[in-house]
Amino acid sequence: AKEISGPSHAFFDPALAAEALDRIAIERDLLRGLADQEFFIEYQPILDIHSHRVMSLEALLRWNHPVRGMMAPDAFIPLAERTGLILPIGRWVLREACRAAASWPGEAGVAVNVSGDQFKDSGFVPFVRDVLAEAGLEARRLTIEVTESVFTVDVSVIQKSLSDLRAIGVKIALDDFGTGFSSINNLKRFPLDHLKIDKCFTDAMLKGGSDGELVSLMSRLGDAFQLSTTIEGIETHMQLEFARLMGIQNVQGFLISRPIPADQVAELLTNGFEV
Ligand code: C2E
Ligand code: CA
Ligand code: CA
Ligand code: CA
Repeated sequence: AKEISGPSHAFFDPALAAEALDRIAIERDLLRGLADQEFFIEYQPILDIHSHRVMSLEALLRWNHPVRGMMAPDAFIPLAERTGLILPIGRWVLREACRAAASWPGEAGVAVNVSGDQFKDSGFVPFVRDVLAEAGLEARRLTIEVTESVFTVDVSVIQKSLSDLRAIGVKIALDDFGTGFSSINNLKRFPLDHLKIDKCFTDAMLKGGSDGELVSLMSRLGDAFQLSTTIEGIETHMQLEFARLMGIQNVQGFLISRPIPADQVAELLTNGFEV
């Protein structure tokens, strides 16, 4: 006979049930939101630390929900990933961001976050190629940001996708570097262009622990593997100065600019701004 033990007699947990219902509602909403054009993109500049030139802008997804109001990606991307809806949503983001970038004055590129599930899809690379052609955007102006979680699947499949993208001319950034299961080996065996040092290090690097050393180490790792380094989440001049001293090339953060609406990008690229 089956042993019944412990707290497993809690058949019905109203809180869990409510949460599950909430999720189902959000999933249905995601589909409707996509159809009803409730998603939009904000763009956050990434600057060259020396010239202060805008190298690229990162596309950050927003959802203007009719009832819940403005939702940050952390509140719905995980659900979109779990339900597979990240595929159509991700395609929308990529197309929209490439179209926008093609209309910007000058040479600034666009960086698009891509989930593992999108990246693993065999149609992904051809899709990127089509989107670039359709938008009339030079491939070198597109950066795909991936996290190390994509490296956990079939190594040779991911290596092939990355090198196919780079063969087209698309750049690859390793996002959130230093968090999760970072491995120096990943820098060696996967073809990459940029390394993005996660905001958690920026927050801690001037607070006297080991994080300052870690940032220095990651900057040197970037140099060693011929990757340009970007540090995220720069909010203070002290952090900016430290990043400069560490030899980091690019900076991103509220000190420079918050993510801005699409219709303000052209003006920002034309007139520049103070840091
Ligand atoms: P991420 O790729 O690490 O993006 C950086 C996040 O840090 C953004 O949050 C940005 O607004 C925020 N940030 C930038 N500078 C600062 C700063 O100085 N201070 C603070 N406190 N925050 C700063 P956001 O827009 O809420 O995005 C959160 C995450 O959602 C992103 O993290 C990314 O992982 C994911 N995401 C956003 N858009 C997309 C998308 O289109 N597709 C996918 N798959 N994921 C996306
Ligand atoms: Ca990112
Ligand atoms: Ca990041
Ligand atoms: Ca992050």
